[in-house]
Amino acid sequence: MSLRILDAGRLARVPMTGIRGHWTGGGHKANAKDLQHYNVLTEGDGAIQYGVDIALNRTNPATGRLFDGYAAHTLNNNTNNIGQTMCGMLGAREAPWHPGTQPLTLVQWNRFVMATADLAEVFKIPVTRKTILFHAEVQPTLGIAQRGKWDVVRLPFDESVRGAHAIGDKWRDEVLSALRGNGPSEPLPVREPLPAGFEGGTAITMARPHLNFRRGPGVIHERIGDGLPPGVTLTVFEAQSDWLKVRTPNGHDGWVHGGYVQMIDTAPAEGAGSVPDPIHTQFAAVRSFLDQVEANLPADRDTLSRMLRNMASDLETYS
Ligand SMILES: [Zn+2]
Repeated sequence: MSLRILDAGRLARVPMTGIRGHWTGGGHKANAKDLQHYNVLTEGDGAIQYGVDIALNRTNPATGRLFDGYAAHTLNNNTNNIGQTMCGMLGAREAPWHPGTQPLTLVQWNRFVMATADLAEVFKIPVTRKTILFHAEVQPTLGIAQRGKWDVVRLPFDESVRGAHAIGDKWRDEVLSALRGNGPSEPLPVREPLPAGFEGGTAITMARPHLNFRRGPGVIHERIGDGLPPGVTLTVFEAQSDWLKVRTPNGHDGWVHGGYVQMIDTAPAEGAGSVPDPIHTQFAAVRSFLDQVEANLPADRDTLSRMLRNMASDLETYS
């Protein structure tokens, strides 16, 4: 198999189910400690380094535990998961935001994306939010506590994209387009569908000040107009991974992110009788709110207090 940038000979052929993305918090060059904590590293100039052998991040059948010397990259989430990192962000601070003295670079990001595409192809890992995710997404998406890890919620070379999910989605979208563009010899990874009940239903927009409305299912697709304000009723036609194809009351068709809408009515699935789960609805609302807060940091005090008041009134309508 010919790969984009990784050396196929350095990748043990073992079953792996996921990739966890990181930054090291150190310098642009991988040091000895970095090499002990990750499997595949991309340095500031885009050079690739190989750290711990991927084969060690599996369960040892003899002990039922990971092999000695495995790459400890993500708390309680290293088994069968490849630790892939970008070297940098020494001295970075989340709030107030400062990228530190060795910020991630665009060339590094692009090479990191290509390396992920190679790993997804070699290990046949599907590109989904639950399989390929940044460290900062592990706690909100998988529910495994990570003690405030914030890699990656900011891109020093692109301040327009912020927040764990937004940057994770950007990563996955770019990996998918790399997989398509390079004509992989293997079948493309398949995205997980949304749970039954989304398609054919009705949804209400929740994001403030507006929800991006796009021409396709992903952040790489062009925005249509200025987006949709909260409270617009949408008809849902189709779900692809986290994205919903919808029609607005004015008859415009486009795509929105499913995390920022509340399903209010679902078409009865055959024999299943699916009913929207109120806990799930509340959870989606809280998650959407937290994403909004994250996207607005640092924001002015008035904006944040307005968001808090809006959230409080939303919670009242659910209770
Ligand atoms: Zn990390």
